[in-house]
Amino acid sequence: MFKWKIRTRLITAFLVLILVTLSLIGSYVLWYFHRHNIDSLSANLLTSAQITEQLLEQYMQNPKGKAEIDTIIKELGITTGLRATVIAIDGTVLADSWENPATMENHSSRPEITAALAGESGTAVRYSTTLNENMLYVSVPLRQAGETIGIIRVASTLSKVEAGFTKIRSALLVAIFLTSLLAFFLSLRLARYYTAPLETITATAREIADGNLNERVHIRTGDELELLAHTLNKLAANLDDKIREMAEEAGKMSLILEHMDNAVILLDRYGRVTTANRMARDVFGILPSMLGKHNIHVIGNSLLDRNVHETIEQAKTRLIDLKITIQGTRRVFQVFLAPIAASASDISGVLTVFHDITVLQEIQDRQADFVANASHELATPLTAIKGFTETLLDGALADPEASAKFVNIIHTEAERMHRLVKDLLQLAKLNSQEYRQQITLEPTPLAPLIAAVVQDLSPQSRQKKISLTLESPPDPVVVKANPDWLKQVLVNLIDNGIKYSPEGGRLLLKFWQENNDAVILVKDWGAGIPAKDLPLIFERFYRVDRARTRSTDSAGGTGLGLAIVKFIIDMLGGSISVQSDINSGTAFTIHLPLAATSQK
Ligand code: ADP
Repeated sequence: MFKWKIRTRLITAFLVLILVTLSLIGSYVLWYFHRHNIDSLSANLLTSAQITEQLLEQYMQNPKGKAEIDTIIKELGITTGLRATVIAIDGTVLADSWENPATMENHSSRPEITAALAGESGTAVRYSTTLNENMLYVSVPLRQAGETIGIIRVASTLSKVEAGFTKIRSALLVAIFLTSLLAFFLSLRLARYYTAPLETITATAREIADGNLNERVHIRTGDELELLAHTLNKLAANLDDKIREMAEEAGKMSLILEHMDNAVILLDRYGRVTTANRMARDVFGILPSMLGKHNIHVIGNSLLDRNVHETIEQAKTRLIDLKITIQGTRRVFQVFLAPIAASASDISGVLTVFHDITVLQEIQDRQADFVANASHELATPLTAIKGFTETLLDGALADPEASAKFVNIIHTEAERMHRLVKDLLQLAKLNSQEYRQQITLEPTPLAPLIAAVVQDLSPQSRQKKISLTLESPPDPVVVKANPDWLKQVLVNLIDNGIKYSPEGGRLLLKFWQENNDAVILVKDWGAGIPAKDLPLIFERFYRVDRARTRSTDSAGGTGLGLAIVKFIIDMLGGSISVQSDINSGTAFTIHLPLAATSQK
């Protein structure tokens, strides 16, 4: 993975350090050795030059002596092994221990000569082409009475110094090589020692990164690496805890989501379904294979799709009402749409929550219908009352016969309004939660209750010459009911029986016990109800045939009687059914739960 491992870097660094240090030290030692040798050789040569100057001083005083200088110098060269040269101030070589001065060129330009001419001693190292080796030259001025009359130059070969230099250099190179070799092996061990814990930490960190959060580093180095390992262990433990917490939270969230009563669907930024909770799957019939498909193919509503796109574009939540037909049933949803976003500019999808308001909508529709129907039902008698009152005021009052007829009609219509309002109030009362909570269901014997109803309605039955038969079992039947409510049920049913039977008709009232139920039958042999109307007669304001109703009863029914009956029977935990044939009669059968004491 990496071009240079730490170990390689450490070894290289060690080696470079050692090589550079040793080379610098070696070079300095070599330089110092060479310098020292040259300096001591120079000092020796200077002494020799000064002695030679003392020796030659007397010879330089006369021409005879001058002629001998070369011989003396040559002898001196043989005894000391040094090369000595005497040079005149114009640079002419006067004597030389190794060469013939006549053949030697002018020496005035040689650096050591120039220095000596200036009154100083001069030193120079030069390669001698004559001897093919490096030479060290030291010159001193040859003085006479404080005046420079020539120059003495003593030279020595540097071959010995150079041979020593080469030997030391070789020894140093060997030492450097051996030390480097030793350093290499030592650095190898050291690097291994220092990088081993690092490698352990790296391997563990890699395991942790791969998701193995139980992995821990165990090293005891007592330094920063141990601290690093300890921190890594803590990090893994914290991460493990956090992931566990997050998984727990995610579990809770998915549990809540799965058991929510609302359908929840997550869509991606392109409007494709990514997640659907149980409710959404049930309501919209979403199969696992449908995940990833566009919402149009899954839910099939363009309004929803449009709103999804607008939610993404505007990055704002919204609430819409949506009507969707699912498997032939019309459902109404209140849909909450919210953008799912890390930031306003980075929207990854949309959350949609479907709140089913079908029932609420139906209730609202029914309430609106109810208000419209009630208003309509009240408006009819009111219009009649208003019309006849106006006719009377416009002068009909003067005609006693017409007045009597009109006042009669007004009375009938007012009666009808009264009944309607009474029934409406009754329904409102039954609908009131507060009222229902006050009512208690108690054991109610049927025989006296039915007898009382028959008694109450006897004026109406007598008026229409209806024969009312009551058949009761020998044993008492006691139901669990509210007597007032039950009485209202029987009044409405018997009243209808009388209303829709011809004069001289017949009415049967019967009750008995059947298993754990009490059964009450209210049967007549009157007009009957057409089969197509039967399923609707318990609806509020439903009347089979308004014309017929009016013809049988001067003011007509309210269409609320059976609705009240059904409402009460449902509340009592019973059931009601109807059998009817047109022109042969109608039978209502009620089932009610028995009071606990009567149950077998
Ligand atoms: P109404 O006040 O009009 O009688 P109900 O709710 O009591 O209202 O009855 C609804 C409709 O059912 C009535 O209009 C009537 O046509 C029909 N109906 C009810 N009872 C009988 C019955 N015993 N015989 C014939 N038709 C009936």
